[in-house]
Amino acid sequence: MQFRDLQRQYQHLKNEIDASVQEVISSAQFISGKQVRDLEEKLAAYVGVRHCITCGNGTDALSIALLAWGVGPGDAVFVPDFTFFSSGECPAALGAVPVFVDVCRDTYNMDAVSLEREIKRVIAEGKLAPKVVVTVDLFGLPAEYDRLRAVCDEYHLLLLEDGAQGFGGELHGKKACSFGDISTTSFFPAKPLGCYGDGGAIFTEDDETAGLCRSIAVHGKNADNKYDNVRLGMNSRLDTLQAAILLPKFEAFRKYELDAVNRVADIYRENLKDMEELKLPIVKEGYYSSWAQYTIQLPEGTDRAQVQACMKEQGIPSMIYYGKPMHCQGAFAGTDSANADCPVTEELCGSVLCLPIHPYMADDEALTVAKALKAAVGRRQSM
Ligand SMILES: *Cc1c(COP(=O)(O)O)cnc(C)c1O
Repeated sequence: MQFRDLQRQYQHLKNEIDASVQEVISSAQFISGKQVRDLEEKLAAYVGVRHCITCGNGTDALSIALLAWGVGPGDAVFVPDFTFFSSGECPAALGAVPVFVDVCRDTYNMDAVSLEREIKRVIAEGKLAPKVVVTVDLFGLPAEYDRLRAVCDEYHLLLLEDGAQGFGGELHGKKACSFGDISTTSFFPAKPLGCYGDGGAIFTEDDETAGLCRSIAVHGKNADNKYDNVRLGMNSRLDTLQAAILLPKFEAFRKYELDAVNRVADIYRENLKDMEELKLPIVKEGYYSSWAQYTIQLPEGTDRAQVQACMKEQGIPSMIYYGKPMHCQGAFAGTDSANADCPVTEELCGSVLCLPIHPYMADDEALTVAKALKAAVGRRQSM
C-alpha cells in the first residue's frame, strides 16, 4: 500500500493528461503558454476571488506575498508552531522575525487565544512591529477564520493564508484560499491538488496586490514588459507543462476526488471511533476538509515507533507530520523565534501519526489500515 497513491490517480486520468502534455510539447510554448492563463482563470473562479497568479512553488508564493507587502527587518510575523517549515522560513528569510503561536489540540490549527497573547506580548516589548499573521490550513482543514480574522482586524494586521495543504477545503461555504488578504497554495505532487513537479499559486481579491505579485514573480517587471524592471523580484513561474497536467487533474479534483477522499475519512472515523484512547481528527460544524493528511493522536505513553513498525510489517505506511515544533528547528536556534510558549504543539509533536489517505483508496484498504492500527495500538497495551 502507498501512503498517497499518485500512480493510481495517473492510471485514471492517463488519456487526458497525456494528451494535454503532448499539446504543450507540440506547441513549444513552455513558458507562460495559454494553459497557464486558462488554469489561473479556472482556479480563481473556483476559489471565488478576482485574481490567481501561479508561480514556481508554494514557498515562493509565500515569499512573493510577503515581498508585495514589504515585510522585512523590524516586522513580527505570527506563524503557527505546528506546520511545515516554509510558513516560518519565508518571513525569516526576508529579515522579519517569525513569532510562533500555539495551535488548537483538536483542529491542529492556529489558536486565536494564543495569537492574541503573542501579539500583546510583542506590542508590550516594543522591539518589533506586528505586521502579518500567517494562518495555515493544516492537513486540509481551514483555520478558524471567524476568530482569527477578528484578531487581525483588531490589531490591524494583514492575514496571509497558507493554503498549501488546504486547497479544496471550505468554511461556511467559502473555499479555502479566499480567507487571506493574500492566500497561497502549493501544487507539490502530494498536496490535495498536485502537479508533476513543483508549482504554486497566489490568490487575492485586490487588484493592486495582484499586479505587484505578478511583477515580483517575473523579475519585478513592469505590467507588460519583462525588459522594463521596476523593482527587484524573482523568477518564479508555473511551467506550461505543469499547468497542462493540472487542468485535467483539477477537473477530477472538483468533480469526484474531494468526495472520494472524504469517504475514506468517514470509513476511518466509523471504524476507529470505538478506540476511545485514540484522538481522531475533528471537522467542526461548517467546515469541510480536503484531507491532505489524516492525522490521529496516539494515547499518552505509546511507543509510536513501535506502532509504525507493527503497521509496516503488515505493509501499511504511516508518517509523522510534524515531529518537531517550528521553534525547535535548528535554523531558529539562538534567535528570538526560538523562545516560544507552545505546550500543545510540543505535545502533538510527540503523539501524532498520519495514516495513508488519498481519493483512490478502496474501502477495503481503509478497513485494513484501521484494523492494523487497532492491532498495533492494542499490542502496546497488552504489554
Ligand atoms: C508544502 C507546504 C508549503 C510549501 O510548498 P512547496 O510547494 O513545497 O514549496 C508551505 N506551507 C505548507 C503548510 C506546506 O505544507
